[in-house]
Amino acid sequence: MAESNFIDYVKIYCRSGKGGKGSPHMHRAKYQPKGGPDGGNGGRGGHVILRGNRNYWTLLHLRYDRHIHAEHGGNGGKEKRTGRQGADAYIEVPCGTVVYNAETGQYICDVTEHGQEVILLRGGRGGLGNINFATATNQAPRYAQPGEPMQEMTVILELKLLADVGLVGFPNAGKSTLVSALSSAKPKIGNYPFTTLEPSLGIVPYRDSRSFVIADIPGIIEGASEGKGLGLRFLRHIERNSLLLFMVPGDTDDIKREYEILLNELTTFNPELLDKGRVLAITKCDLLDQELMDMLRDTLPDGVPIVWISAVSGMGLQELKDVLWQEMNSESNKIAAIQQTETLVHHDKDFSQLRIEMADENEDDDFDWADDEAEDIDDIEDYEDFDYIDDEDANA
Ligand code: GDP
Ligand code: MG
Repeated sequence: MAESNFIDYVKIYCRSGKGGKGSPHMHRAKYQPKGGPDGGNGGRGGHVILRGNRNYWTLLHLRYDRHIHAEHGGNGGKEKRTGRQGADAYIEVPCGTVVYNAETGQYICDVTEHGQEVILLRGGRGGLGNINFATATNQAPRYAQPGEPMQEMTVILELKLLADVGLVGFPNAGKSTLVSALSSAKPKIGNYPFTTLEPSLGIVPYRDSRSFVIADIPGIIEGASEGKGLGLRFLRHIERNSLLLFMVPGDTDDIKREYEILLNELTTFNPELLDKGRVLAITKCDLLDQELMDMLRDTLPDGVPIVWISAVSGMGLQELKDVLWQEMNSESNKIAAIQQTETLVHHDKDFSQLRIEMADENEDDDFDWADDEAEDIDDIEDYEDFDYIDDEDANA
């Protein structure tokens, strides 16, 4: 848990590896002056891959590692040697991370599941070595394919809490104290507004070693939904909570009215929040006596399950967990499966135009080029029919 270090937004520059060049090498042996082409294929460049990891709850670990580079593919070599495949670069992200292109703002994908992998940037495919280009009419091609270029992109990773229960209440409603009481998380607690400037997660153990996640959202204030105050930035964290736990202190003058104000704030922010299940907890009940509680009962809002609790005395906490669990698992409140994005927006540039790279770079100095007629790249006709090999294993 990293309550005090909640990072919900991080910007990272990513770059995949470029594909290795195909080799234009000509085989030479002492008694075989005119050996054929033996240049191997270039290796694929490394991908940049996002991977969901349930052991992370924040994006904090990415804060200091803002450049992710995958390795370039190795060049093909003589004797048909295939270039080494560039190592993929993995970006481990907590489940619930949403990825955007930082320059265009375009949505790229969600990483929602533990172990889910999404290729963010593909490594360039390796170029074909000249062994692929030998034909009946051109038995000694001295050209090879370049590797595909690398790709780069700056992305924004945004974490929306995937809590099951989001706490909604004004500052000092007792949210942080409840998270502490129910879970092993230890948020800061203080008797002043904006105690909690950062949302924190708590894992609540439930019967039979099950558990659910509650999120302490910093106090929303009136007007938060219009962008005033600190609340707005955090309100979006509860967009995904499957259940909202409203919290109003028992010593509030008008509990029903305060509940309605909270409800109104949320609706203004995002009307869809009304579709979520709601539970109302009346907090700090250790401050009330039985007589007062009986009096208050008639003044409470209808149509929402109500639990009387005290995080300090422990009153009502088991009942609260039961009610939350029940509501969470009721049909109407089941979380809509978050759409899984398997494949990505393709950032492939147009590589269909294969460029011809003359063999000078990898040229074997001893080779006698003078015999070859295809000096001019325009003379090479068959070349454009070749495509990169798609099957990565073909290169391995
Ligand atoms: P938050 O702003 O909603 O997170 O509220 P906090 O959890 O920080 O609590 C605000 C104040 O209310 C603190 O002084 C807490 O000690 C107090 N408080 C919280 N829960 C209870 C409770 O169950 N009983 C009593 N008497 N005080 C509480
Ligand atoms: Mg708090």
